[in-house]
Amino acid sequence: MEAKVTFNVDRCKGCGLCVTVCPKGIVALKMTETNRKGYHPAGVTDMSKCVACASCAKICPDSIITVEKF
Ligand code: SF4
Ligand code: SF4
Repeated sequence: MEAKVTFNVDRCKGCGLCVTVCPKGIVALKMTETNRKGYHPAGVTDMSKCVACASCAKICPDSIITVEKF
């Protein structure tokens, strides 16, 4: 199975909730990037480790994460 996690980067408020729930520890705030709102946006560091559990998508208060399985 392959997974793809996409973030609506410019809507992220950098709250870090998605970072705390990922069982694989692969969601992180990108400290070197700043989005349109002025926050460091979340992203996946190693997509090959994603198990498509969708925990990150479920906890995001603004529903900006999409998880797809192939
Ligand atoms: S779908 Fe699950 S494993 Fe994949 S990045 Fe989100 S929380 Fe982590
Ligand atoms: S939970 Fe949503 S708003 Fe918060 S850091 Fe993650 S993607 Fe951004």
